[in-house]
Amino acid sequence: MCGIIGVENNENAAVLVSAGLLNLQHRGEESAGITISGKEKMKTFKTMGLVSTLFNEDILINKLPGTAAIGHVRYTTSSKSSLLNAQPFQISCIHGNLAVVHNGNITNFHQLRKELLKKGSIFNHTSDTEILLHYIAMSKGNLSSIVANSLKKLEGAFSIIILKDKTLIGVRDKNGYRPLVLGKIGNSYIIASESCAIEALSGKYVRDIAPGEIIIIENGQIRKSFFYGKSKKQNTCIFEQVYFSRPDSVMFSKTVRKARLKMGEYLAEQMRGIKADIVMPVPNSGYFAALGFSRYSNIIFENGFIRNYYVGRSFIKPSQSLRDLTVKLKLLPIKEVVSGKEIIVIDDSIVRGTTSKRLIDVLKRTGAKKIHFAFSCPPIISPCYYGIDTPSKEHLIAANNSTERIKKYLGVDSLTFLRLDNLIKACAPESRKENLFCCSCFNGKYPTKVPKKIYKEIV
Ligand code: AMP
Repeated sequence: MCGIIGVENNENAAVLVSAGLLNLQHRGEESAGITISGKEKMKTFKTMGLVSTLFNEDILINKLPGTAAIGHVRYTTSSKSSLLNAQPFQISCIHGNLAVVHNGNITNFHQLRKELLKKGSIFNHTSDTEILLHYIAMSKGNLSSIVANSLKKLEGAFSIIILKDKTLIGVRDKNGYRPLVLGKIGNSYIIASESCAIEALSGKYVRDIAPGEIIIIENGQIRKSFFYGKSKKQNTCIFEQVYFSRPDSVMFSKTVRKARLKMGEYLAEQMRGIKADIVMPVPNSGYFAALGFSRYSNIIFENGFIRNYYVGRSFIKPSQSLRDLTVKLKLLPIKEVVSGKEIIVIDDSIVRGTTSKRLIDVLKRTGAKKIHFAFSCPPIISPCYYGIDTPSKEHLIAANNSTERIKKYLGVDSLTFLRLDNLIKACAPESRKENLFCCSCFNGKYPTKVPKKIYKEIV
């Protein structure tokens, strides 16, 4: 996962992009970067760590004058977590200087990389994004045909923003796996992973960039919008609404918050008959599902965990030992809320089982009388090849164990997963109920060809 944003036609482009990135920080905490152009020579700044590490006044005002900028926050899914692989990638080629930011995973990356290496290409990074730059550099024609022809070679998930001089180019792969939205602020256009970043800048969400669409923006005008390809069906990642996207972002014309409230309602319906004193979320991702559950079931909603906000998201850590430690430091139960109570605890998902196991142990030690654990999505049984870091099958607890076995391992009184049909209903746009989603992590059905294994690094 990653967060991307671009702004054009604005004297404050660098400030707007950095403020936007702060509002996409939930999509990745490992590195942050910005490229600016339009006035002086194109420049890029990157850092490991949070957006706040990168952007100080000196960089934003003095070192980054320009009118168009793109930015990126990174969460490694396909290559090494290092400054070298931090984005944007800026290159100088026959078409001039250009920079690119990418969210997703190019699934045929290894094959394309091998082909390019044989032809003599040189690679500086181990990230899949670099492939696109090679194709752009090698293509001839006008900007739109260069981009379209380059994209046709790529398979998998890519929401991309390209910056060339004063021009912004937004691209979404033809399945629409990852989100990408268009917004306006005054006379400038913004492209971003999520609408929350646009609204935080007091901008207006205009629309989603459609699957397969390429949009070229310059001087506050949409110069061209066209499709490089189409897929039979839209396959937007359903896990965005379950976990990744911010609740105030709009997806399929409703907020993610609304979808999560619905997930909670459907869970409550599935768990009818289970009595409890309170329903509580695992903060923050279980919050709205627990609220929806409470409203539907009339079971009192309580915040039973204190979250330490100074510890990052537990999963967005590149190693298991770091993940274990952050779970321990991050969530602490409130004794007066849970002690002696029969509780329903709602989290968004179980991946390896680290978080839920640790939380259940600590809830028991704090005196919870009975624990019913529920997840606002189905069991994750297959890895994601499209940009979410769900590990290979052997590490996925639900890929290798039945619900009954997981229940025993966790030591809970009941264990419920939201059914896939209910999840799809909760996430679907209000006007259309068909399945517009990639649910491959829940059903193993991949919309496109996937590599035989998940590549973490290039050797
Ligand atoms: P685990 O401890 O491995 O079972 O991970 C589950 C926890 O990580 C849940 O509380 C989720 O909120 C969060 N989570 C689930 N899937 C992901 C993902 N792909 N990336 C980051 N965080 C996730």
